[in-house]
Amino acid sequence: MTTRRTASATTTATITAAKATSNAVSKPKPSTRTAATPPAASGTASRKPSKASASPGARGASGQELRVAVIGAGMAGVACARTLAQAGCHVTLVEKSRGFGGRMATRHTEFGGFDHGAQYFTVRDERFAQALATTPDVVVPWSASTVRVLDALGHVLASNPPPREAHYVAAPGMNALVRTWAQPLADASHHLAPKQGSAVHLSTRVTRLANDPIHPGCWELHADDETTEGAQTVLDGFDRVVLALPHAQAIELLKASGLTKGAGQTLLKSLDTVTVAPCWTLMLAFPNAMQPGLPHLGPQWNAARSTHHRISWLAREGSKPRRDHIERWTVQASPAWSAEHLEDDPYRVTAKLRKAFAEVTGIRAEPTHAVVHRWRYAQTQTPLGQSHLWAPALGLGLCGDWCLGHRVEDAFVSGLELALAVLKG
Ligand SMILES: Cc1cc2nc3c(=O)[nH]c(=O)nc-3n(C[C@H](O)[C@H](O)[C@H](O)COP(=O)(O)OP(=O)(O)OC[C@H]3O[C@@H](n4cnc5c(N)ncnc54)[C@H](O)[C@@H]3O)c2cc1C
Repeated sequence: MTTRRTASATTTATITAAKATSNAVSKPKPSTRTAATPPAASGTASRKPSKASASPGARGASGQELRVAVIGAGMAGVACARTLAQAGCHVTLVEKSRGFGGRMATRHTEFGGFDHGAQYFTVRDERFAQALATTPDVVVPWSASTVRVLDALGHVLASNPPPREAHYVAAPGMNALVRTWAQPLADASHHLAPKQGSAVHLSTRVTRLANDPIHPGCWELHADDETTEGAQTVLDGFDRVVLALPHAQAIELLKASGLTKGAGQTLLKSLDTVTVAPCWTLMLAFPNAMQPGLPHLGPQWNAARSTHHRISWLAREGSKPRRDHIERWTVQASPAWSAEHLEDDPYRVTAKLRKAFAEVTGIRAEPTHAVVHRWRYAQTQTPLGQSHLWAPALGLGLCGDWCLGHRVEDAFVSGLELALAVLKG
């Protein structure tokens, strides 16, 4: 039922029916729209509640299985999408990046990978533990017993107490967990693929939600195809839509869709209470600086929290299981320093963070690779205080780590609980 169309850069009036392009990791069901499809409805989206939204159960407006679009393929979105697919929904997962994982990110370089987003995760919720147990190959413990608190000159102020809970990483990189969980959605031939099929669209940035002119009571998504400049895409026929985005990007999308009144306004008011800090992250590789007989450069610890005003965290990438052993460090700037220098030139940020890194670690060698990444929305400071937002009248829900906190597990729980709310109707 879900249709993918491509549109010209400037107007949706020239939309023609098109088959799924290479962005669609698995093909949606055949389109029922033709080249004579009328232009998408313009103006604000104010979806009328469909019959299904008034009645419980996983059935859509057509009486068929519920068709749900999940926007955002980070931990929250994929946790939500896989739960819905396992419950029998037709799920379409849409992600603006080329891959899965969101802030559970891994940057591949010729010197090895950098986990430049989430560093590790902990497990407190039994449902998260059960989900992790389905993919034991990609979940490995990482000893964080070497984590120390360091002052500005690299002195140990206090050893961290032995960790009360185990720390885990995904292998071979942090993005592997979400990618593995998304695989059955992307690959119809996967042995865990939902029977009724699903679709994944990568490199597809959703710009607006609108009423679906062809399927009354349904949503359609307008999106930019990130692989082709100016190309646009419309995905339609959705009974429900899930926004699994950082809260600021969810606000932008609601506003761009004209969802500023009624239930939309209520969602926006809730989102306004959330605050999230940015983070500049520095990635360093020293392939040429190794001394014969020494396993690595500098200090003996593998990861540290720091009280240096510029840096809050440092980790030796090679200390994580199943990683390349070339000396590589990931350095995270403190939330306050990141906010203060958010719009600075990346070269300037690199220089300042490199200086702080040398002060804390004593490593003064010239890195072969020194690159920064700016996370505009990194760490939740004020969470929503509930696991998700669900507006039954709109058939629209929101999830993400920001609902509950700033951890990978918060994102998982949020996505899972929103899926359960969607299924309840
Ligand atoms: C530097 C850093 C360090 C961290 N360290 C830790 C840690 O050590 N331990 C821990 O537990 N947590 C850590 N976290 C937090 C953890 O990464 C997050 O809690 C979790 O990954 C959030 O998942 P999410 O699905 O809610 O959001 P995200 O991972 O941000 O996923 C949102 C997705 O939506 C996509 N998207 C956005 N807009 C659109 C659009 N318009 N159309 C389509 N797709 C869109 C994005 O590309 C992204 O893939 C860290 C985060 C950062 C940035």
